[in-house]
Amino acid sequence: MFRRDFIKNALSAIGAASLAKPAFGETPAGKPGEFREPARSVPLNSDYDIIVCGGGPAGIGAAIGAARSGMKTLVVESGGCLGGTWTRGQLSWVFDFKNGGICREITDRLDARGARHGGDWKDFVYEPDAMKIVLEDMASEAGADLLYFTNCVGAHVAGGEMKTLLTESKSGRQAWGAKIFIDCTGDGDVCARAGASFEMGSEGDGALQPCSFNAIVRVEDVDKLADRITAYKKEGLNGHVKATKLNLKDLLDVGIDPSYHMPTLFHLGGNILLMMFNHQYGVRCDSAADITRATVEARREVFKMAEALARTDSPWRNVRIIATCEQIGMREGRRVRGLYRVSLDDAVGGARHADAATRATFGVDIHAPDKESNRQKTIKNISTRPYDIPMRALVCRDVDRLMMAGRCISGDRIAHASYRVTGNAVDMGFSAGREAARLVSEGRTPHSLAAS
Ligand SMILES: Cc1cc2nc3c(=O)[nH]c(=O)nc-3n(C[C@H](O)[C@H](O)[C@H](O)COP(=O)(O)OP(=O)(O)OC[C@H]3O[C@@H](n4cnc5c(N)ncnc54)[C@H](O)[C@@H]3O)c2cc1C
Repeated sequence: MFRRDFIKNALSAIGAASLAKPAFGETPAGKPGEFREPARSVPLNSDYDIIVCGGGPAGIGAAIGAARSGMKTLVVESGGCLGGTWTRGQLSWVFDFKNGGICREITDRLDARGARHGGDWKDFVYEPDAMKIVLEDMASEAGADLLYFTNCVGAHVAGGEMKTLLTESKSGRQAWGAKIFIDCTGDGDVCARAGASFEMGSEGDGALQPCSFNAIVRVEDVDKLADRITAYKKEGLNGHVKATKLNLKDLLDVGIDPSYHMPTLFHLGGNILLMMFNHQYGVRCDSAADITRATVEARREVFKMAEALARTDSPWRNVRIIATCEQIGMREGRRVRGLYRVSLDDAVGGARHADAATRATFGVDIHAPDKESNRQKTIKNISTRPYDIPMRALVCRDVDRLMMAGRCISGDRIAHASYRVTGNAVDMGFSAGREAARLVSEGRTPHSLAAS
């Protein structure tokens, strides 16, 4: 065979092979250990002005802010309720609420249902299930649409702007166009899918704050456990520390060295308490395997603790778990790079910004990253002065038409351990929703805020 014919035949064989479609059900060619997903068309919905990804404290704030400003707004939420860590995580205690705005509206509605117990307007105990109905009422009155049981799984960027969100649910894969997307997934999932840069954990060793798995328990007589229940407003931080020491002693007495050395109890009314007794270490928000392991281990530990305490002849006698959280509480995920990065200096120095999205007053509160340091010092605190979080920290630096609110905004790790609490998340979310609406009505994009 002539060399020319040989090359021609060889090329047509390669061409035929690459054009040949794999038979139905057959895996298409990819690198070993990889599956090359075939391209496909999916339904595209472009009805919305603003899409809020994640319906936690930040997401509900953003959705209400946008919808009340006249924007057609959708919230995409992977769970079956609004509230995120507030509800799915059974948090039961808020820090840094504001005496006005969206925070005050939530407080008043919880009060109308008799679902607040202890604390004042700034920090208080609430019932997680009442929070679910309060937030759904507020979202629907504002006119925001909700889409539950739906994961944000992809983000398409063109010309430096986020154009399309991809979701997966019982409805299959769907695509969503909008003028502005707000990532309120807590972990910055959408920004990461869009290819935006982010930080996670401490700079040197990537250490992360632990997760906690909360449980609601019923006790025989809540009054007998009064000295073990945290009531910040009565005795401040010292009272909290004293109460957790008693819980720690109770656990050590039944032969359990708990993963969290400040086991905390909140009173949800009647003989019902919230137990935050567990820490899970080294859990990455981008690892389903880590999150699964942590959830299984944590549930086991929490049941072991409750069952051991229930067998004692003590105020804990017959304590019973009545509900464990649906989602393990993730303190620390991605911190997406924004047009501004909030720093510890801002928090300690009381920074002021003309474009403030909220004013944080909570101190730095970092939980130990591993069991050993938890034994020595469970929580490291640093005092701060009231400081502003500028709207620019809520604008994704690398991708336009994409904003963040809540714990995934742009900041250093230590400042994050202060601004992450829920009063700040919901308030900055509300500001982000309103700002996104203003930008849309003025035909501008979030990157135009760079000049603020
Ligand atoms: C154990 C623990 C204790 C804490 N203690 C306190 C406290 O006492 N007081 C206080 O105020 N704050 C406390 N915090 C901090 C606070 O709870 C969080 O920082 C806050 O909830 C952040 O709000 P967020 O809306 O940014 O995120 P989240 O509350 O995490 O909400 C994110 C929402 O997005 C959804 N979501 C995530 N990924 C996707 C996806 N890919 N697609 C669709 N939806 C998605 C989730 O289901 C969730 O509803 C605590 C946190 C933890 C974990």
